[in-house]
Amino acid sequence: MKNDEPTVGRRVLLRTAVFLGIATASGLLASGESGPPGTGAAGGTPGGGGAAGAAGAAGQPGPGGAAGPGGVRAVRPQTPGRTAYRLAPMTAEAPVRPPAARPAVRTRPILELDPAAAARSAMVLTFDDGPDPRYTPGILDTLARYGVRAMFFVCGEMAAENPDLVRRMAAEGHLIGNHTWSHPLIPSLSRPGLASEIGRTSEVVEKTVGAPPLWFRAPYGAWNRAAFEIGAELGMEPLAWTVDSLDWTEPGASVIVSRILKGAGPGVIVLSHDAGGDRTQSVHALGTYLPQLLARGYRMTLPVLPPR
Ligand SMILES: [Zn+2]
Repeated sequence: MKNDEPTVGRRVLLRTAVFLGIATASGLLASGESGPPGTGAAGGTPGGGGAAGAAGAAGQPGPGGAAGPGGVRAVRPQTPGRTAYRLAPMTAEAPVRPPAARPAVRTRPILELDPAAAARSAMVLTFDDGPDPRYTPGILDTLARYGVRAMFFVCGEMAAENPDLVRRMAAEGHLIGNHTWSHPLIPSLSRPGLASEIGRTSEVVEKTVGAPPLWFRAPYGAWNRAAFEIGAELGMEPLAWTVDSLDWTEPGASVIVSRILKGAGPGVIVLSHDAGGDRTQSVHALGTYLPQLLARGYRMTLPVLPPR
């Protein structure tokens, strides 16, 4: 009983069971293989920081074909011609997930909604860096007033400090994404450091709301290959954005409003912030642009996971 092995193994088994339960309940495992991995990735230029294309030329590794923790068999067959890949051992804070539920490892993030969603005039509002008790409640109040759901890419350290806000997000139907623990510049991290940043955040979200995040977003839009690999290993899809409100520069609520209204369009994903500085303008802007977007016929939705 003094050995760590049984405890770690049991924890992985438990997490596997929990995750499989979630995947089954949401129909993830029923979708099977519906096309080559990566076909769901949006084209175009990666948004955000200059490091976004860092992994562009790298070979696209496929998920490992070996049985995962707990003896779960892989549903996804090894794709011929693709390089088998095994993630390096990770910390106890970042246990691996069963291969059956893993998304493909992408080489760039998703930047916009799929064409079917775009055809329905769907848009997605995303808020990063929180939760912050000074601003997040105001954003949640406005979303609730209009019956709109959104995505919150939370930082683990903020989520750990504000669990009630994380629970409120989930209770009101919003999606919670992983935005690392402390908002570092990912390319500056070691691989174990990055695994800890992402893994600990997924753990705190799961501990708080009972389910781990299924989406993640790199701080500053600075992705690298390790981020795509670790994110996929933890069962998450990388989501960037189409329109950056640049609200963090505090340009005035009216400027934020006009940027978002100007950038609005079918399939557009909007980036704003509910923490990381004074976000008073972001809170006020939402109360103006949200009703205008709805009046123009846009439907605020949540992204659907690509087939796995
Ligand atoms: Zn951020």
